[in-house]
Amino acid sequence: METIKAYAAIIGGGASGLMCACIASKRHPNEKIIVIEKDNRVGKKILVSGNSRCNLSNLSACADNYNSSFESGVDFLLENYPPSKVLDYFYSIGLLTMTDSENRVYPLSRQASAVLSVLRNELKRNKVQEICDTEVVSICKSGDSYKLNCADKTIVAKKVVIATGGKNNYAQKVASNTYKVAQSIGHNITALTPTLSPVKVESKVIKSLKGIRAQGKVTAVINGKAVKSEQGEIQFSADSLSGICVFNLSRIINRAKNAEIIVQLLPDFSFTEIKDMLYSRIELTGKDNVQELFTGLFHKNIGIALLKCSNIDTAKTADKLTNSEIKALADTLNSWKFKTIRSSDFSTAQVTCGGINGKEIDSCTLESKKAKGVYLCGEAIDVDGDCGGFNLQFAFSSGMCVGEQL
Ligand SMILES: Cc1cc2nc3c(=O)[nH]c(=O)nc-3n(C[C@H](O)[C@H](O)[C@H](O)COP(=O)(O)OP(=O)(O)OC[C@H]3O[C@@H](n4cnc5c(N)ncnc54)[C@H](O)[C@@H]3O)c2cc1C
Repeated sequence: METIKAYAAIIGGGASGLMCACIASKRHPNEKIIVIEKDNRVGKKILVSGNSRCNLSNLSACADNYNSSFESGVDFLLENYPPSKVLDYFYSIGLLTMTDSENRVYPLSRQASAVLSVLRNELKRNKVQEICDTEVVSICKSGDSYKLNCADKTIVAKKVVIATGGKNNYAQKVASNTYKVAQSIGHNITALTPTLSPVKVESKVIKSLKGIRAQGKVTAVINGKAVKSEQGEIQFSADSLSGICVFNLSRIINRAKNAEIIVQLLPDFSFTEIKDMLYSRIELTGKDNVQELFTGLFHKNIGIALLKCSNIDTAKTADKLTNSEIKALADTLNSWKFKTIRSSDFSTAQVTCGGINGKEIDSCTLESKKAKGVYLCGEAIDVDGDCGGFNLQFAFSSGMCVGEQL
């Protein structure tokens, strides 16, 4: 069995591990620093992020954008490794960025590969070795170092970084328990659920809406109580709702037993305004088919689905609608209910909610409280952010912080 000795071993070649390796290798030019990656190449998730454009940060990142058992760590990182510091660093290694109207930051080239390339080029300049196709199974103390156990080799290192990411293995072929390394030194893992994912719904009309996009407001209702609303583009698929606004509700919904999403396609209109608008459109369409009520307003299939969900015969003419049918239609338009199905499917999720318990990590150094000389960073920790660059920002800022500790 081969044995490799290093000063620092970073387990996981994702955003956080690569950033950590860049910073650490610059600080210790004469020490051997290695990145161990179980997949056949590093940074696969960076390449698929942001629809392959990589939304790498968000200038308005603040504590409210994150859910976690590591609040003090998130606060520390936002203050000491804010987006500006992460972006200055990227600039120093060659990446130019642009910021959109919602403060989301992308590479100027709009290519996710640019982000990965500048990180890997810096690693090459700093002589960091990438060891791919190698999964670390466990770690244990060995004298003043740690022994990292892999199937065909042993790695001995003074400092170890666990940057193994979340349970969602979206872009990766190799699926396994990403938390076993942290568990091998005694860390506890909080409950894991998928987040930033499409939300599956039970609805007689959802199939007919497949492929349609509409602007609107979505509200998560848990046990009858509205708990979170978001506005933006809603995307309909054969069995689910998605789009950034829905992604941002998925965390709450995937953890709730009794949840529904309320869709408002005219969120700026009151119920009375919607009803008045329906009456004036009925006057306009008169003897036309009732489906024409929505011509010029929504996609045809949305109109039909709204009628069906209001129990209205789609074959009748608009002037035959009764007052109670008009009220039912206004109700649906004002508050279109979709019963949700709780999902534990990580394959379509961008992020994992839950992870290594933040209470077991020093919030200023990110050192494990279970094992001195072992550090944790990135999505492996129980921190998940909203959609919009907040997760990569956390991965990069925590990677920077740990890189400075090594
Ligand atoms: C499709 C998609 C799009 C996304 N888009 C965005 C976006 O635009 N903006 C944003 O902010 N966030 C986005 N995210 C989320 C973001 O990519 C992640 O939060 C971030 O990449 C996490 O980085 P990480 O380094 O912590 O983990 P990962 O990137 O998951 O890296 C962990 C690495 O560790 C390796 N590994 C795990 N266990 C072991 C082991 N035992 N031994 C060796 N190697 C191991 C894994 O193979 C992996 O390569 C997206 C995610 C997905 C899936």
